[in-house]
Amino acid sequence: MKTKAIVTGSFDPITVGHADIIRRGAAMFDEVYVVVLNNADKTHMFTEAQRKAMAEAVADELREEGITGITVDSYSGLTADYMRAHGITTILRGVRNERDRIYEMELAAIMREFYPDCTTLLLESRPEYAELSSTDVRQAIDGGRKYAHMLTPAVARLIESMI
Ligand code: ADP
Repeated sequence: MKTKAIVTGSFDPITVGHADIIRRGAAMFDEVYVVVLNNADKTHMFTEAQRKAMAEAVADELREEGITGITVDSYSGLTADYMRAHGITTILRGVRNERDRIYEMELAAIMREFYPDCTTLLLESRPEYAELSSTDVRQAIDGGRKYAHMLTPAVARLIESMI
């Protein structure tokens, strides 16, 4: 049986930090589902279609590196329901610092309530990405500052064509 994991996020936009978690996930699991979550309570800079297109661009770049088994999708419901429907029991989340860790542990407990078979696997972010967030990218865009260094080349190109 193929091993599967899911990587979820708003990915508004997807950064090199996210791409690193996906790359490392793909080394551990046969199939990695990158799922762009659409949370109606959140306001996004990029539309669901744009965020998904950026995640697809990252998957294509990884494919060019020879990394396979990545599927990109988007979803508006509960992550637990998506996981159950796709036979996935592992959720991969990146942790940059203590604040992330506390938040992710709380989220993991909630996931377990909805889906007792669920295991949350926390991957430590690489030190060089520990200060990097989608919020930083959005603020740089808004402020007219440089942002490409926080993105993979294909995502930087896509954003340039979108804004
Ligand atoms: P959410 O809105 O669910 O927090 P994000 O897109 O901000 O979605 O993040 C998705 C996941 O990626 C979270 O587990 C988050 O901790 C992780 N993450 C975000 N930025 C980084 C980074 N620079 N390095 C590693 N993991 C990260």
